[in-house]
Amino acid sequence: MAYEIHTIHTILMMLTIQDTFNKELPADKNTSNTRRQVLQACYSFVTPRIPSNPSVVHVSKEMAEAIGIESFELKQPQFKGIFSGALVMKGTQPYAMCYGGHQFGSWAGQLGDGRAINLGEVVHNNQRWALQLKGAGETPYSRTADGLAVLRSSIREHLCSEAMFHLGVPTTRSLSLCLTGDQVMRDVMYDGNPEYEKGAVVCRVAESFIRFGNFQIFASRKDDVTLKALTDYTIKYFYPEIKSEGKEKYIAFFNAVLDRTLHMVVHWQRVGFVHGVMNTDNMSILGQTIDYGPYGWLEDYNKDWTPNTTDRQQKRYRFGNQPGIAQWNLFQLANALFPLIGEAKPLEDALKRYIEDFTVAYQEMMRSKLGLQIEDTEDAKLIEQLEETLSLTETDMTIFFRKLADLVKEDDQEIALKKIRDAFYQPELMDDQYQDQWKEWLSDYIQRINRDSFSDLDRKALMNKTNPKYVLRNYMAQLAIDAADKGDYTIIEELHQILKRPYEDQPSNEKWFAKRPEWARHKVGCSMLSCSS
Ligand code: AMP
Ligand code: MG
Repeated sequence: MAYEIHTIHTILMMLTIQDTFNKELPADKNTSNTRRQVLQACYSFVTPRIPSNPSVVHVSKEMAEAIGIESFELKQPQFKGIFSGALVMKGTQPYAMCYGGHQFGSWAGQLGDGRAINLGEVVHNNQRWALQLKGAGETPYSRTADGLAVLRSSIREHLCSEAMFHLGVPTTRSLSLCLTGDQVMRDVMYDGNPEYEKGAVVCRVAESFIRFGNFQIFASRKDDVTLKALTDYTIKYFYPEIKSEGKEKYIAFFNAVLDRTLHMVVHWQRVGFVHGVMNTDNMSILGQTIDYGPYGWLEDYNKDWTPNTTDRQQKRYRFGNQPGIAQWNLFQLANALFPLIGEAKPLEDALKRYIEDFTVAYQEMMRSKLGLQIEDTEDAKLIEQLEETLSLTETDMTIFFRKLADLVKEDDQEIALKKIRDAFYQPELMDDQYQDQWKEWLSDYIQRINRDSFSDLDRKALMNKTNPKYVLRNYMAQLAIDAADKGDYTIIEELHQILKRPYEDQPSNEKWFAKRPEWARHKVGCSMLSCSS
């Protein structure tokens, strides 16, 4: 039964709860869990829905440790209870946040945590963590949807958040994945074929889940008081390095968010991650990857690729567009912060420098991918020509960069081409023209590494810590999902373990360092993902 009174537990799990968001910021005065517009408030109190038969599917032990949960506690019924939504921790007051956002380029008004419920904030080892259940039932922000999540999308979020963390990409984390025991109806491809799927809840963890949209909603309602309160709160806890006052403080804040966002996107481009739904409500104010929905990983290098079928026509959120969209989103954030600053110029200046700074950071990142030490005036051209050549034939991005690291200064272009051959999806179809183009680029690259001060070993070391060997390819997640649907969680654990060491050679896991199999080319969940989750 949903919305029973929750049992309050205290016995184990000595989590240090130190709530700030729901203590220092204005709450919705209406405490009924009804769908509505919520005004002059940053959040609404709401308790998770009680699952009918919860069970723990998977836990990230590193995350548990980071928030102060000991390994023996993972098996306690309290753990399952709290992180499936059945129990509410003593001293906490769960809540859903109010935010708005631009979806696919248009202002969508109030959105909010429609199926995310924040449990509270834990402080451990001087680090603040907000815990949030996703899929734990309806909230005042659920609009027309059910507040629930299915196992399929929850596995994808759980595995990918942890994988991204281990890749060194700024991200929200995932503590746990539970089944609720309830059935959830979803029409995966939006084609009129709804089916029941297993309901699930992920416990996400981050310093904060505040998004660009949290600021936008107040600006859109001309509620400068709440806007200021939220901004001051965010700076106080998450940007404490900002010491200035008045409008300078907000200008510094915008610049800091811009820097973090820029670096997050550089990381995405480095590892070949496509977010899929870069709406402003899915942009963390901390510059972390948030909301793993129809995301995907580039297999063949294609700047025009998006995994999100909902965006198939426009491809607004395609791989190559992510840097530009981040800037567009920052422009929306600038508009939202404008009332606190009252002057457009400093915001425009910041947005202008985004392009220059992004270019510099991107070039630096690409030079690391190529293992180059000394900067060379020809590098920009070398990078551009590589991107062009990579796009000519279907070439696996991840495999290509790992194989490229095997080149040595003495190689000629023929040997070099042989070394990267495994990265081509259909090497037998490469005609002379493509081969020649590749040889030309490889010959430029060989000359370039001969001019560089790095030894072959140094270069390989830099490349192999920049270019992951193991990423969560879409078909890998799908295999974990298919098995989990049948009650077998071993692939989830196997992938979780492999993806903790994405840069290391793992001889026993070579089978996951492979091109996407042919069966996955057009399969739902592998090459096509909808927002249905
Ligand atoms: P997303 O596209 O997943 O970022 O979601 C956009 C908005 O829809 C957010 O406000 C979500 O909380 C909300 N939302 C998505 N799925 C659901 C759902 N099943 N139930 C309630 N709200 C949802
Ligand atoms: Mg979202």
